[in-house]
Amino acid sequence: MVIIKQLFDKLHELYPQLVEIRRDLHMYPEVSNNEVETPKKISEYLISLGIKVKTGVGGNGVVGYLQGGKPGKTIALRADFDALPIQDEKDVPYKSKVPGVMHACGHDIHTTALLGVAHVLSRVKENIIGTVVFIHQFAEEVAPGGAELMIRDGCLDGVDEIYGAHVWSNDSIGQVSFHEGFTMAAADTFEITITGNGGHGAMPHETVDPVVIASQLVLNLQQIASRKTDPLKSIVVTIGSIKSGEALNVIPDTAYIGGTVRSFDEDVRNEAEKLIRHISGSTCHVFGANTEVKYNRGHAALYNHPNETKKLKSLTTDFLGKAKVFDKEPIMCAEDFSYYLRKAPGTFFFVGGGNPEIDAVFPHHHPHFNVDERSIITIGQVFLSLISHELIDKKDTLEVQPMQNLGGAPVE
Ligand code: MN
Repeated sequence: MVIIKQLFDKLHELYPQLVEIRRDLHMYPEVSNNEVETPKKISEYLISLGIKVKTGVGGNGVVGYLQGGKPGKTIALRADFDALPIQDEKDVPYKSKVPGVMHACGHDIHTTALLGVAHVLSRVKENIIGTVVFIHQFAEEVAPGGAELMIRDGCLDGVDEIYGAHVWSNDSIGQVSFHEGFTMAAADTFEITITGNGGHGAMPHETVDPVVIASQLVLNLQQIASRKTDPLKSIVVTIGSIKSGEALNVIPDTAYIGGTVRSFDEDVRNEAEKLIRHISGSTCHVFGANTEVKYNRGHAALYNHPNETKKLKSLTTDFLGKAKVFDKEPIMCAEDFSYYLRKAPGTFFFVGGGNPEIDAVFPHHHPHFNVDERSIITIGQVFLSLISHELIDKKDTLEVQPMQNLGGAPVE
């Protein structure tokens, strides 16, 4: 516990500087795949700490390598840094200065926490047995996301385990939650175009009416979830869009249906795609229309490895206490951290950021979204307790180098 306390103290010492970093990122957000200044700021900070850095990984990604004093295993920690095309509507001094762009998912918090962890660990480098890899990922909010591209570019080479955090405004500041197994869903979309044969609304027998066929098809697609897949394996099929026709007395030529599929199990996901194609094709065929189905695969489902999840949950409970740590119910949102977990064991956990006193009560992707900045400390502590447990000898005495003076005003 002595080493952990020393590391936590160093993190607290950094807090004013970290808040300044977070607010700077918050004021100058960059949308997915257009990150230019953010990766530059990240790599400059890591370099100033003496951490070896690779930039342009898979696109705009940045990877830092902190090699310890002795050889050992390699643990990767990941934070994403892209923002969303949303107008920031909250009233704080550090609100976004970029019109229509906002950190509305807390990726600025993840990035700052990981930089704080890198700073603290860089000061005790000689005590580290192994290597810590800092994966700063671009483009999490789009598919294909930055994770796949960074993995292809080698960011997981030699990595034994990987961990990632998401701040969560629905949970209160100070809470941390974990879940073993499937935790976040695969998110796919589909678009179906039905081509019939339009005509006069009073002479339907001379047409192939795509509106009636589309209506039939929407109902038939409901059977994927209700009749065609194992009820114990969750799936959602939602039609979010139907478009056809303009005039009230005209049967149009075409109709369009679009929707989303959420699932955990890869077999269920594959089956859903097959069924959407089959049901669309046959429903249209019966009534003489043609169909075109576009099925777009989004992020894969996120599976947390049981052993690594148990380990991190127990380490977190050790310093936070049982009352603050709980098991999270799986959610149908998607996250491309799933791709790292397909290559290396690890876990993705949630850190509470909600606090009604500072109006941090809005859901993610909301124009008023905000979180309590102390979540930076909580994320940092979970990562530091992991590295201290896995890569530092408990009997060692820490050789701490002085912290870098990188600015930061005191925060109340
Ligand atoms: Mn997110």
